[in-house]
Amino acid sequence: MSRILIVEDEESIADLEKDYLELSGFEVETRNNGRDGLQAALEKEFDLVILDLMLPEIDGFDVCKQIRGKKNIPIIMVSAKKDDIDKIHGLGLGADDYMTKPFSPSELVARVKAHMARYDRLVGSNPSKNNDIVEIRGIKIDKTARRVYIDGVEKNFTTKEFDLLTFLAENPNHVYTKDELFRQIWDMESIGDIATVTVHIKKIREKIEYDTANPQYIETIWGVGYRFKV
Ligand code: CA
Repeated sequence: MSRILIVEDEESIADLEKDYLELSGFEVETRNNGRDGLQAALEKEFDLVILDLMLPEIDGFDVCKQIRGKKNIPIIMVSAKKDDIDKIHGLGLGADDYMTKPFSPSELVARVKAHMARYDRLVGSNPSKNNDIVEIRGIKIDKTARRVYIDGVEKNFTTKEFDLLTFLAENPNHVYTKDELFRQIWDMESIGDIATVTVHIKKIREKIEYDTANPQYIETIWGVGYRFKV
């Protein structure tokens, strides 16, 4: 199910948006200030963000900029002022869409669906994927048996290497920071830090890449993290 984050400080508006989106089959979380909204957007997995502009703590301009720096998900900005929309344009923040309040909830739902569809087309060009097998070019991951085959040859992976590779392969073209990957794969209690991620990526590459100096699968995004290329 697609997950949507609403960052909106006016409770009645947030509730209305949430109700309509849930009725349309989306899973929705809300945050009522910019700081919490940014944190949720960066740390959790959402498919789309609806972002109010005037927010306590951190405003929508900044939140948008920071999400965009790290995540490739659609962002719809909303504002009560037409002038703000011009400003969003002018700043080139990378918002995918913008709406002026008040808008009808059904219009919001329509826009959300349109962006989801567009995004699916962009991202989903796609590895064949069902619940048990993830297959991307020469890599085949059997999730049930926890086995990995490279060009038909089975390779052995440790538990965490397997989890990390599978997570990246199931979320291709998405850039994750080391911090996000560490939190995603390792328990919060476990000993280690983000350097652990680097070490595991190196070991995975040795098993899946033809040339580790020129990786074809897991790409390093300098200063940010990693992504699995499709
Ligand atoms: Ca507001």
